Amino acid sequence: MLSTDVCIVGGGPAGATLSHFLHKRHIDHVLIEKDAFPRDKICGDGITLDVLNVLLRIDPALRHKFATAPGMLPSWGFCFRAPNGKELRYDFRDDGFEYAPFYTARRLELDQFLIETLPENGSGELWLNTKVTDLEPKADGVEVAYQNHAGHHRLKAKMVIGAEGEKPVVTKALGLPHYRQKPNLIAALRVYYQGVTGFNEGNHLEFFFDKKLLPGYFWAFPLENKSANVGLGMVSTAISKRKVNLKKLLPVVMEQNPHVKVMFEEAEALEKPKGWGLPTLTKAREIGGNRYALIGDAGGMIEPFTGKGIGTGMMSARICSEHIAEALETKNYDLSSYADHMYRYYKSEIRAGYALQKTLQFPPMLNSVIGLSNLGPVKNWSHQKMVREWQRWM
Ligand SMILES: Cc1cc2nc3c(=O)[nH]c(=O)nc-3n(C[C@H](O)[C@H](O)[C@H](O)COP(=O)(O)OP(=O)(O)OC[C@H]3O[C@@H](n4cnc5c(N)ncnc54)[C@H](O)[C@@H]3O)c2cc1C
Repeated sequence: MLSTDVCIVGGGPAGATLSHFLHKRHIDHVLIEKDAFPRDKICGDGITLDVLNVLLRIDPALRHKFATAPGMLPSWGFCFRAPNGKELRYDFRDDGFEYAPFYTARRLELDQFLIETLPENGSGELWLNTKVTDLEPKADGVEVAYQNHAGHHRLKAKMVIGAEGEKPVVTKALGLPHYRQKPNLIAALRVYYQGVTGFNEGNHLEFFFDKKLLPGYFWAFPLENKSANVGLGMVSTAISKRKVNLKKLLPVVMEQNPHVKVMFEEAEALEKPKGWGLPTLTKAREIGGNRYALIGDAGGMIEPFTGKGIGTGMMSARICSEHIAEALETKNYDLSSYADHMYRYYKSEIRAGYALQKTLQFPPMLNSVIGLSNLGPVKNWSHQKMVREWQRWM
């Protein structure tokens, strides 16, 4: 049986990032991905500055390569549109950033970028078209059952890292709790469009908190070549309680919200709406333990208000790599220290995210929060605060 120090299950942003960090630390590993690349992933395609931060930590040249790669569109701000139609817009073009704080890129391109920039002849191997089917914990490691074109095989790993996204295999195989719990799950749809008009010149990310959609939101993110990523999402408990059909709600918002409608007058959908789940950050998940850790969506790393999960997933990979290195050094393969580290790191985002998620249930409160944030001195203060924090990150 083949053996390795670390087996990573899933080659999305979280798994690929972990492979980058393990290469950097010269740690022997195998990255197993069930699909051929490039492959699509249902997403909003909004890339936040934590992605740039993680790329910088892998290698400043990699961050530069990302920012200048074809298909990556710099986005210099964002806009929250309140239920009463008022907008709260931030633009960072004059704040002296070397790189835009946000980018958009189809996941087909982002995920391919992260995979194709993995070092050749490094300390790890990438196995595409290979599906992990089961895990069997043993006293001295974990046996990973996998399937490829040549049949069924097994690999022995000192540690297994689940990075297989929202439909977890590792969680199930290890019998871990908190699998797809509705209060910590958002459901969302994506549709690619051509010909959406009215985007800000700085390619801002546009969020619409439409009354009909609360406690959820509609987004329109500009992409290269005048295309756009459009979608909507809502917390799963609200979907069940209100028996909402997101596919039916999408055209309602597009036809009835005056700010959305005007953007779509000449637009053409390039595909049918496609849905996927977003598991949100919660301490209730066991994301690290004896010889295993969960990163990215497999560990529910999505920020509960905005739904961003690419950057948090990549950050979880970076943090996990530190604990893997320590485990190999000390020969203590219990990765629960990774879980503690993650929750310390994201404590305030978890608190703020769920608090803001709650305001989505009360349109007048959301109107007030957005209205107050728009007052000159308050907006100035929050703008400067973001700039200061982000400058530290970039
Ligand atoms: C509609 C929608 C909009 C979103 N918008 C945004 C956004 O704008 N910005 C943002 O930051 N986040 C967004 N997110 C969240 C983001 O898409 C995820 O957080 C992100 O994809 C997580 O990356 P990951 O690597 O953990 O998982 P994934 O990207 O899902 O990658 C998992 C990989 O594992 C592979 N895999 C699965 N099972 C196996 C197996 N058995 N064996 C081997 N490989 C396997 C899969 O093929 C896949 O390639 C959105 C999500 C949705 C659903």
